Amino acid sequence: LATDKRIDGKAISAQVLSEVAEQVSQLQAQGVQPCLAVVLVGKDPASQVYVKNKLLRAADVGILSVEHYLPEHTSEETLLSLIESLNEDAKVQGILVQLPLPKGIDEIKVLEAIKPIKDVDGFHSSNVGGLSQGRSVLQPCTPSGCMRLLKHVCSDMSGMHAVVVGRSNIVGKPMAALLLQANCTVTLVHSKSRDIQSLCQMADILVAAVGRPEMIKQDWVKPGAIVIDVGINRVEKDGSTRLVGDVDYADVWDSVEAITPVPGGVGPMTIAMLMSNTVEAAQRQHALVSMN
Ligand code: NDP
Repeated sequence: LATDKRIDGKAISAQVLSEVAEQVSQLQAQGVQPCLAVVLVGKDPASQVYVKNKLLRAADVGILSVEHYLPEHTSEETLLSLIESLNEDAKVQGILVQLPLPKGIDEIKVLEAIKPIKDVDGFHSSNVGGLSQGRSVLQPCTPSGCMRLLKHVCSDMSGMHAVVVGRSNIVGKPMAALLLQANCTVTLVHSKSRDIQSLCQMADILVAAVGRPEMIKQDWVKPGAIVIDVGINRVEKDGSTRLVGDVDYADVWDSVEAITPVPGGVGPMTIAMLMSNTVEAAQRQHALVSMN
């Protein structure tokens, strides 16, 4: 496959991270050290890997991190009081609670406890509502990473028909809100939608966030479409495990104008946007302190 229509998430995330490192230096020059608090409850192996990667990336760009590892059987009350203390700690500008939380802890209650201005995942209802109103808020990392990839290949999305497959709170819904903000006509498709293939065929921009390996084939894709594949699916083939997206990359290749690979597409953008959000949170809090 030629590489010219591959949207290189690794390279674009490196650009984002270098911008973030520059912003960190500027904040440090003003006496502010951006700091991200990461809270992990329990020992979920995948969560441990995600947290480790986030901490490494933070260190790379000069963001300080504080880690809070809590045992599996932590009470909701203990977790909420930790969040309360992080909310009050002026040295911490970003708070990330790694999901999923163990059973028995109310995820929504925990996310709602984070001060919206420190909510670097963009999951607090105040940020979710702000996003749907088109206000400038901290945005969820995966969809904002997708927008950054799209802007790389398409400077003006105005009037384009964007179809988003998947309506989760962390990807599909905020993705639709961001595309709407970019003046796309947006169709949000989910498991109850009828004739998903025809809906996908109408897309100038097709975003797949489903979690079904290689569901989207060539005859689902309009010729010349831009395809963003958020899916990360592990599949066993010939005795080994490999990662594939929700789009059959090789099958759609000839039809598309541009497409993200899996891995190396949306994945690296998510962590880069988390770092970007942490710096943005630090800038906003610094501006507030300076005003008072
Ligand atoms: P969820 O399981 O929360 O949501 C999946 C969505 O897809 C749901 O809205 C569901 O519809 C819809 N869906 C399921 N089956 C179909 C179908 N056959 N046709 C149409 N729609 C369908 O997943 P997430 O949004 O959390 O993640 C989606 C994918 O993206 C996963 O592969 C995940 O691993 C990946 N991911 C990647 C990230 C990255 O950094 N690259 C970050 C986050 C996720 P309904 O609501 O009706 O059930």
